[in-house]
Amino acid sequence: YVRFWLMTTSVYLLLLALQAYGVAVGLIPSDSALLIRKTALIGVGSFYVVMRSGWSMRWNDPALTAQQMAFAFAMLAMAYVLTPPIRGTLLFVSPLVLMFGAFTLTPRRCRQLGLLAVLSQSVAVALSLSLAPDQSNSHLEIMTLVSCAVVFTMTADMAARLSANRELLRIQKRQLRLALERNELLARQDELTTLPNRRHAMELLQYETRRSQRDRLPPCICLLDIDHFKRINDTYGHAAGDRVLRLLATHGVPALRAPDILARWGGEEFMLIMPETAVSEATHVVDRLRDRLTHSHIWADHPELQVTFSAGIAASLNDEPIEDTIARADAALYRAKEAGRNRTVLA
Ligand code: GH3
Ligand code: MG
Ligand code: MG
Repeated sequence: YVRFWLMTTSVYLLLLALQAYGVAVGLIPSDSALLIRKTALIGVGSFYVVMRSGWSMRWNDPALTAQQMAFAFAMLAMAYVLTPPIRGTLLFVSPLVLMFGAFTLTPRRCRQLGLLAVLSQSVAVALSLSLAPDQSNSHLEIMTLVSCAVVFTMTADMAARLSANRELLRIQKRQLRLALERNELLARQDELTTLPNRRHAMELLQYETRRSQRDRLPPCICLLDIDHFKRINDTYGHAAGDRVLRLLATHGVPALRAPDILARWGGEEFMLIMPETAVSEATHVVDRLRDRLTHSHIWADHPELQVTFSAGIAASLNDEPIEDTIARADAALYRAKEAGRNRTVLA
């Protein structure tokens, strides 16, 4: 905000310097110049104090753009009336002031300030004609005013269009960011269970094994497969099967320790990643999970339902590729199925 203030202040300084030159060469009386200088410094100083003190943070626009623009129009009108010989140097400043609005004001406010600029110039012309008729040519003043009215209105309109474009860009950028976030989530999440999907499980596993290479215990992984899931589907329908998968996810996760990750590996298979875990501890975790899932009221809708799973556990070894660890866990799972299901086998 202060940078914006600096920009406007440098415009004031330029105009005041021109005015000082006008006084030096005798174009304008020094008492008028002094009055203008004092008013400008008081105004600019007040805006600085209001912004620096943080007081303006309460307003919608803490840069006080509209207020500073209105003050600039008032100052220009005052100078227009008091320094007739240099009126020409003041006329092109208002369009510049109007363009400032494009960066912070709403399109509507931009157009309102355009009208204010025209109004302020009209007052300046009226005062000039009534206060110092000998120094003002009424035809010239009217021509100037008409020209100002057209140019100021069109400039305000341009600023309004720029402001509308800026707002549109802001909205589109926001929509794009939301869409991107959603896409990233979808790329990592399994839709049915909201667990991490296989892709994301691989990423997490890679991350865990890389971390363990620096003097940590390597992770243990466990592949789980629901026993006779096809029967559940065949007996109660595919929707009931889906529900079983979702319930397994919602009731399984709370049974785990904080760093453990349950992911949907595919179909009715899940992968459990247990960072920094020894095999004996991993067996405990899986036992607790089995306990939680089989001896609970999760399946109250279908008390006859027997949902059990078989599991294969493998500890990641130093320098062993992850794919090999997974293959060992898979082989252990196969042995668990062979041995009669509803059990855990270590690789
Ligand atoms: P096993 O004890 O040997 O694992 O027997 P199973 O019937 O569980 O094994 P199998 O792999 O032969 O069958 C898995 C079934 O899981 C087949 C498939 O129709 C079902 N399935 C896979 N994904 C989904 C899913 O997203 N929703 C539902 N409802 N069923 C699924
Ligand atoms: Mg299976
Ligand atoms: Mg199965």
